[in-house]
Amino acid sequence: MICVTIGCGSHKRMIEEHQKLAADGVRFVELRLDYLRKKPELHRLLPERPTAVLATARRKEDGGQWRESEEARLGLLRELIVSGVEYIDLEVDVAPKIPRFGKTKRVVSYHNMEETPEDLDGLRQKMLAECDPDIIKIAVTPKSIGDVFRLVDFLRRANAPERIQAGEPKTLGISMTEFGWFTRVLGKRFGCPYTYAGFSEKRILAPGLLPYKTLRDLYRYDDIDAETKIFGVIADPVQHSLSPAIHNRSFVEMGLNCAYVPFRVAPEDLDEFIERAPELGVCGLSVTIPHKVEVIKKLNGFVDPAVSATGACNTVVWGPDGRLNGYNTDYLAALLSIETAMGRKVGAPSPLQGASAMVLGAGGAAQAVARGLKDRGARVIIAARSEEKGRDAAKRLGCEFCSWQDRGAYVVQVLANCTSVGMFPNVDESPMEQQMLRAGTVVFDAVYNPETTYLLRMARQRGCKTVSGVEMFVGQACLQYKLFTGQKASGSFMRSVVRGALSAVRTTAEEIN
Ligand code: NAP
Repeated sequence: MICVTIGCGSHKRMIEEHQKLAADGVRFVELRLDYLRKKPELHRLLPERPTAVLATARRKEDGGQWRESEEARLGLLRELIVSGVEYIDLEVDVAPKIPRFGKTKRVVSYHNMEETPEDLDGLRQKMLAECDPDIIKIAVTPKSIGDVFRLVDFLRRANAPERIQAGEPKTLGISMTEFGWFTRVLGKRFGCPYTYAGFSEKRILAPGLLPYKTLRDLYRYDDIDAETKIFGVIADPVQHSLSPAIHNRSFVEMGLNCAYVPFRVAPEDLDEFIERAPELGVCGLSVTIPHKVEVIKKLNGFVDPAVSATGACNTVVWGPDGRLNGYNTDYLAALLSIETAMGRKVGAPSPLQGASAMVLGAGGAAQAVARGLKDRGARVIIAARSEEKGRDAAKRLGCEFCSWQDRGAYVVQVLANCTSVGMFPNVDESPMEQQMLRAGTVVFDAVYNPETTYLLRMARQRGCKTVSGVEMFVGQACLQYKLFTGQKASGSFMRSVVRGALSAVRTTAEEIN
């Protein structure tokens, strides 16, 4: 069950939001009374409440906004219980002072905005012994992925079937911030009775809280069960990733009981995360910045030749033997999209054989694309603004190097932009000037946001064939989907999801600006 948290400055707005949620099918709402600017008027908020309510008046030290005295807060909590609210949130130090009354259920809560305390079991025992809880809630802040897994282990012990059958209350655990974010999505797997969500993107009241529509419709919280196969993306940061949208929507489209979750993993946490991910039910992962190189050390199963060739791995899948297999789907996706634009025929030799190509940039994408073009038999020139990096990459990959100033002097059949120039929000920038582009050249741009970059616009005007980064992005996701599920994804469906997600990203950015 998802509990949507609403906190508004005015009673009118809070009532409106509550009604809107109920109309949208939400059945459980937390009213954060500490957000109200005036003294809470329960006669306005409760008698005609359209859903079950958890009433909360959170103190500042616990991450809340309560401005009045503690005495006034305790009075309000008692008044809420007398008014028969379905659930009341009572902090661990306050619960012993407020006795059970009527049918109101007691969510006894502990918040720590600094850390994840060592003795979580001891804390739970204390709550059981002193606080008369119906539900125990523990919201803590992780300092490392180890803290998040410690909370998960604790939840598994606390919610062990024998304890619940013996009548002990269920425990809800939240590891706050983006690092512990997956505990909000996968909590049901650790026995949590419900999870919290925000009203909307703009109304997020706690670190790591997600809008309820995202949690319900994209991550399908209510459908995740013990059988659900978990996939995800590891990155740092991870919020910008379009992969959750593309994979989750494809799982729904094809009726698969799978979920795809973003995992923010700091570089120093990579080893531990990879070791412990299978305990979460994780079967495979997309891997992106900054882990594509380091993750190779963790592979102990099959290693795709494209990983060895590029020195980068963007997909890992655990085999039935528990070994970790690694792949590079970027490499093949970029090549296939360029070859398609060059008129590749099934079974015929690659049109890249003997062609000349220039790759702009010397980063991860540039090296994968350069290596792929080279492997297909093209003559490849790398042009990079950092001469040392460019020369180094060219030498390693068996390519030629040209200085950034000279990039316009070459006549090539394929031009591949693998720099980030032209990427949103710098959409008016291009790595090439218009007069450097020649009719007939296939111009590929790895940048996928926006889909039609300034470079591609100019290239079309000059009579070039163009390939957008969306083709590569969709191509690599289709290959990943096959590795994850064994099933063929629909490229056109994924393309439409990416386009929708990109336009949503731009709208949100415009609203924020
Ligand atoms: P990266 O490793 O950080 O490399 C970025 C490259 O761009 C570096 O060579 C950098 O040069 C160069 N660069 C940045 N600004 C520049 C400028 N103003 N002028 C000239 N060169 C500049 O990043 P990456 O992972 O390779 O990604 C590069 C682009 O490809 C990004 O836009 C990314 O979103 C896109 N990409 C797309 C897909 C897809 O599926 N479509 C997949 C992977 C990547 P310095 O080293 O001198 O900074």
